[in-house]
Amino acid sequence: MTERHGKCLCGKTTFALNDDNPTVAICHCTHCQRSTGSAFSIVAIAPRDRFVCSGPLKKFEDVGESGGAVNRWFCAECGSPIWTEASAMAEAAIVKAGCFDDTSWLKPTLQVFCESREAWVPLVDGTANFARMPG
Ligand SMILES: [Zn+2]
Repeated sequence: MTERHGKCLCGKTTFALNDDNPTVAICHCTHCQRSTGSAFSIVAIAPRDRFVCSGPLKKFEDVGESGGAVNRWFCAECGSPIWTEASAMAEAAIVKAGCFDDTSWLKPTLQVFCESREAWVPLVDGTANFARMPG
């Protein structure tokens, strides 16, 4: 099993993801745009029980664009977004992929909420693209 490590900006929150093949997705939803202060977020999605995280985490109880509960966990010390759990994907950990120590393996295969993609953001080659969520 591949173990990948990551941390927040200040280093007080650390995590490990034990999964050989996480799904790497780009999310263009307006909540990701706002919570990251950027145009989109890049996430690694894997079964929840393969993700361990420790540190001074705080959670923001968000409501997803689908109307379901979304918990957005971030480092209480430095504010870095770390991971998200969504009722629409109850068994998954959705990890902010820019926080991995090694990001060289990231290769997005999926883009979601393309309906709110900034017009100047080019679509990445080779991804499956959805206006909102798959299905
Ligand atoms: Zn931190």
